[in-house]
Amino acid sequence: MRPIYASIDQGAFRHNLSIVRSLAPQSKVMAVVKANGYGHGLLAAAQGLAEAEGFAVLGLEEAVFLRDAGFKQTILMLEGVFQADELREVARAGISVVVHHNEQIAMLENAVLERPVEVFAKMNNGMNRLGFRPEHYAQAVTRLAGCANVAQITLMTHFATADEHPGVDEPLKLFHQATQGLSYPVSLANSAAIFRHPETHADWIRSGIMLYGASAVAGTPAQSYQLRPAMTLSSAIIAVQDIRPGESVGYGNRFTAARNTRVGIVACGYADGYPRHAPNGTPVMVAGQLTQTIGRVSMDMLFVDLTDIPGSGVGSPVELWGAQLPVDTVAEKAGTIGYELLCALSPRVPVRVIKHG
Ligand SMILES: *Cc1c(COP(=O)(O)O)cnc(C)c1O
Repeated sequence: MRPIYASIDQGAFRHNLSIVRSLAPQSKVMAVVKANGYGHGLLAAAQGLAEAEGFAVLGLEEAVFLRDAGFKQTILMLEGVFQADELREVARAGISVVVHHNEQIAMLENAVLERPVEVFAKMNNGMNRLGFRPEHYAQAVTRLAGCANVAQITLMTHFATADEHPGVDEPLKLFHQATQGLSYPVSLANSAAIFRHPETHADWIRSGIMLYGASAVAGTPAQSYQLRPAMTLSSAIIAVQDIRPGESVGYGNRFTAARNTRVGIVACGYADGYPRHAPNGTPVMVAGQLTQTIGRVSMDMLFVDLTDIPGSGVGSPVELWGAQLPVDTVAEKAGTIGYELLCALSPRVPVRVIKHG
């Protein structure tokens, strides 16, 4: 069997949820488990986060899967329904939906449902992705409030720059102005806002990345908040090549040895979810010691420098990211963010769920 696997530490989910709660003690937690639980597995993530008051997903299939798995809390479809005929199943399973444009209001008004549906009415405060513009927002909420198929309404928006300059002051002001006189629960904050902008916590926080133990803010390591990585991607050395100065490794000869070099071949490539654009020098742990990638990442394998790790060889354990090496450190070197690496874990990588710890 190929030695690569991802271990998912459900204890880390519980721990990270408690950190989130300590940051926003007054708020209910909507645990965002879209994208297959940020690559960790939808069920593994939901089980680890079972104490959250809600889950957020994209598709109806994921929502119904969680409901059928026995989760009783709020389950929110973050983009709402895509077709009107999804609403019957939404109502039957007691799923909550985001409503972000007039067509979705019309779908609710025209539906025949076995019970009313809880909605999160989304305002576009300048990110210009989903939602009603501030000047149209109160009217949309009033229309929803008059719809017999709508149960509880929650007011919602999403920030484009919670993690960087210029922050949330301006969009938050817009939100408050546009919702004056509307007394409903409110949901504003993603992970970066939970950390950096306590004034956004409100009734529901929507935390994603921090629950997985990775950073939401470039330059602020997850460990500085005592978050624990939930995923460790592990493999092993499957071959060793001793090369001389002037010899190269891999496609395109992207690394040429300047000294006698012991090259370790790791069973992990871009088809496993490791970023192909990771340059020479991307950190990797081998047998508990920090070393780095050399040469171009190929589909099923990558190269590491073993020269300074005496005693390492075929069978030595490798950690690509996780408990010893933050995914954000690898991501930064590869020009991306931890989110992308976690979500990109390939279905061909076996997953081991660790229930205790
Ligand atoms: C994905 C998502 C979140 C979670 O974001 P994190 O940065 O992972 O905390 C929150 N709200 C919405 C609308 C999202 O799409």
